[in-house]
Amino acid sequence: MSDRSMNTYCKICNKGYQICNSCAGQKKVKPWRTVTDTMEHYKIYLAIHGYTISMDKASARAELKNCDLSGLQNFKPEIRSVINEIMSEI
Ligand SMILES: [Zn+2]
Repeated sequence: MSDRSMNTYCKICNKGYQICNSCAGQKKVKPWRTVTDTMEHYKIYLAIHGYTISMDKASARAELKNCDLSGLQNFKPEIRSVINEIMSEI
């Protein structure tokens, strides 16, 4: 896959991936594919998104504990800082 074909970047880890526009217009495409590159990153995205909108920190932390955070050091800086904020006990 060439760089030119990367038209979408994961909201969590900023990795480029490809969605073809004709596929994206079809209902059979999973909605998370337009936001993140993997299902795991979409779960993280939902937890962070919920937290920034209305979710309390304890609930967001519970959500994140169900997520695979193994690539944390490669996540976008603003995502990492929100995760660190949620995971801090204070
Ligand atoms: Zn990702």
